[in-house]
Amino acid sequence: MWYLLAVLQFFEVKEIHKPEGQWCQHCQLGKGCGIYAQRPHECRVFDCNWLIGLMPEHWYPKRSHMVVKLDHDVNSVSSTMFVIVDDRYPNIWKTEPYYQNLRHMSRQGLNRTSFVGYFFTVVRLNSRPKNGWLILPDQEVEWRLGEPMEIRQSGNHFRVVK
Ligand code: SF4
Repeated sequence: MWYLLAVLQFFEVKEIHKPEGQWCQHCQLGKGCGIYAQRPHECRVFDCNWLIGLMPEHWYPKRSHMVVKLDHDVNSVSSTMFVIVDDRYPNIWKTEPYYQNLRHMSRQGLNRTSFVGYFFTVVRLNSRPKNGWLILPDQEVEWRLGEPMEIRQSGNHFRVVK
């Protein structure tokens, strides 16, 4: 129950017009979902990478204060792996072992060595859905939603050309 309440605050629930980054009006802190039996389909089918077993145990959202979820764009050949950080712990993604995990995730996505195929890794704060950091295997660069970016590879290194 903690998972459903705390993690879903990061995401939009269209069926009940709940914006992302805000607590749901049906959330009863300390109790649970006030409409659990009738909760929207989006809530019933929601999962994140940790819940479906794709992340190590230390990524449990209550412990890591981050939620990882793949956003697949059907109009694009690539997807974005969003790492959404709880605003109360804005720099936790820079601590270990998370930082190395993110770099590894980035390398997997850019080298297509994950079963998901080609993806970008983006870290952003819960309250700032349009800004964040694009994670590359050996650096991170500022990211803005919709801003065109080209990633070029030279050997084992990747860099961004804006
Ligand atoms: S309807 Fe219930 S499960 Fe869905 S976001 Fe609101 S509190 Fe959470």
